Amino acid sequence: MADELPPGTRHLPGFLDRAAQEALVEDIRAVAARAPLYAPVMPRTGRPMSVRMTNCGPLGWVTDRERGYRYQPTHPVTGAPWPPIPPRLLDLWAAVADHPAPPEACLVNFYEGSARMGLHQDRDEANLEAPVLSVSLGDACLFRVGGTSRGGPTMSFRLESGDVMLLEGPGRLRFHGVDLIHAGTSCLLKNGGRSRQPPRPLCQPCHCSGGLDRRTRGAGAGIIRSGDLPAGK
Ligand code: FE
Repeated sequence: MADELPPGTRHLPGFLDRAAQEALVEDIRAVAARAPLYAPVMPRTGRPMSVRMTNCGPLGWVTDRERGYRYQPTHPVTGAPWPPIPPRLLDLWAAVADHPAPPEACLVNFYEGSARMGLHQDRDEANLEAPVLSVSLGDACLFRVGGTSRGGPTMSFRLESGDVMLLEGPGRLRFHGVDLIHAGTSCLLKNGGRSRQPPRPLCQPCHCSGGLDRRTRGAGAGIIRSGDLPAGK
């Protein structure tokens, strides 16, 4: 399927094996413990997004009614600086994103229940040479990618837990979004990371992942975008 993706869209199925996914989940839980997930709202309308977010790194992406989409160095609710990007994510970036500088921001999007993300461009970054790198953990999602202008043709494909995906080069400003979460397709996160039920232990085996091989190739850098990541509560 990868060869059908439009230019600048690089999908690395099963890049992270189960152990690497579990380790990354713990890293992200530690981030969320210091910088709690919160419900961002849209500019002007104040309409809450269905995705909950937090960040790590020197800068974090935020949105609110008054000031709109932007990056800032502090959590909008606690006022504290964002925690550092976990070394494992920095290593992933170094291995995959062919870019000379480390990422400055890592956005954690947590999709619960019917949460989704409408088609949008990532264009709030100062350096568009740096790619957007996404890591999926937990239930699979249907990811949609289009062109660089709104209203053009789009295609969708499935991202599984452990998949890495990049928008880079000619694909850096492609419209993209998450149409839906395939509930119950992964047991990486407690309760599938979807609903508020009593915690239960991780089950084995999980249904996530295409091949669990590790692949390392070059790509681009600036922002690590961690899509579909966990809260772990
Ligand atoms: Fe995005």
